Amino acid sequence: MTERTLSIVKPDGVRKNLIGEVIKRFEEAGLKVVALKMTHLTKQQAQGFYHVHRERPFFDSLTSFMSSGPVVLMVLEGEEAIKKVREIMGATNPADAEPGTIRKLFADSIEENIVHGSDSAESARFEIGYFFNALEVFER
Ligand code: UDP
Ligand code: MG
Repeated sequence: MTERTLSIVKPDGVRKNLIGEVIKRFEEAGLKVVALKMTHLTKQQAQGFYHVHRERPFFDSLTSFMSSGPVVLMVLEGEEAIKKVREIMGATNPADAEPGTIRKLFADSIEENIVHGSDSAESARFEIGYFFNALEVFER
C-alpha cells in the first residue's frame, strides 16, 4: 500500500551535516520526497509534536534538544513508507540498532539519534498535518 510518513533530520543530524546522507538513504529505498522544509522549532512546537510523550521522564530534555537548532522536515511517499523509514532509521537506542542503519552509524545516544519517522498510519497523519498544509505536499 502506498503510504506517506513524516521524517525529521533532528538538530544533531543537521549539526553533523547529515541532511543529504539521510535523504539519500530514503531515496535509494525508492521513497519519494513529496514535501520538504527547514525550520527551527520553538520549545512549544516541539512539545506539541511530541505530546504523546508528555508524561515521560525524557520529555523536557527531548523537547529542549528538538528546539536546540534547525531541523529538516519531510514527507516521504511510497510502498510501506512508514515501515521502510523505520527500518532505515534503526532502533531508538543506537546501541540496539541494526548494523547499517542511520542510528547505528551516526547517533550518539538514545536522545540524540539523528532522525525521526512516524510509527503508524495514525501518527503519520497527525505529524504530516502538524507541519505541512495541503498546498505544501506534492503529487509527483
Ligand atoms: N527518547 C529519549 N529517551 C528515551 C526514549 C526516547 O530521549 O528513553 C527520545 C529519542 O530522541 C526518541 C524520541 O524521544 O527518538 C521519541 O521516542 P520514541 O519512543 O517515539 O522513539 P522513536 O519513535 O523516535 O524511535
Ligand atoms: Mg516515536
